[in-house]
Amino acid sequence: MIEVFERENVTCGKVQISIAGQKANPVFVFIVDGMLIDTGPERAEASLIPFYENYSFELVTLTHSHEDHSGTAPWIEKNRNVPIYVHPNGIEICAEPYPYPLYRQLTWGKREAFTAVPLGDTIQSRSREWEVIYTPGHADDHVSLFNKETGQLFSGDLFVHPETKVIMNTESIPVIMDSIRKLLTYDFDSMFCCHAGFIQNGKKVLKEKLENLENLTGEVKEFYQQGLSLEEINAKLFPKKYPIITISEGEWDSLHIVSSIIAEFQ
Ligand SMILES: [Zn+2]
Repeated sequence: MIEVFERENVTCGKVQISIAGQKANPVFVFIVDGMLIDTGPERAEASLIPFYENYSFELVTLTHSHEDHSGTAPWIEKNRNVPIYVHPNGIEICAEPYPYPLYRQLTWGKREAFTAVPLGDTIQSRSREWEVIYTPGHADDHVSLFNKETGQLFSGDLFVHPETKVIMNTESIPVIMDSIRKLLTYDFDSMFCCHAGFIQNGKKVLKEKLENLENLTGEVKEFYQQGLSLEEINAKLFPKKYPIITISEGEWDSLHIVSSIIAEFQ
């Protein structure tokens, strides 16, 4: 249930969760230079414990506090004497037991409370210094990690997929676009995404994602100026109704893509 491989001196652990026979997005954890980046979902704990036993690390950095990234942090807190860092906005979320709806508890597991330490502007692994880049939009406590010497970027959940079809009601497309623009000012090539894994031409694919979102913004703007309602624009641009919209009772919906874009014009 865990696949482990090396890319550019980064140990990549890939876990795959199924819910009611359906495969969820794969989730990656990474170890680079003695730093564990993200801890996977609680439901993958049985696979991740042997991984933690085989590969050593002295600190943990969470790209954000979502349950598919922080799920085994409570196990690490109990069994390893290492600090677990998260952006200051995530500290209180980590201190709460499973602060998210039931369908997410069923999918990813119940992440218990744990104590996280606030990240600063940089984080030091064994021999490298990483820049902590605040990149909100997907989550309020989302960071990316960049190393100047290696040109490596850990992008958390900012990339995931080149085409965005549904987002959560807490996400914002314009804020995501600003965060991508910020990352594109850095001199990186390869990118480690927590769901897509290792991407060698990371900067290129991130640029493409930004272009897609810029085009989408243009389309929304045009329909909006023609006087179409939020629902009408959504039906035109996203005719497909994904199962997650119903399963999540609308926490995930393409409607949030359109409404977050429209909010910028008002
Ligand atoms: Zn996330």
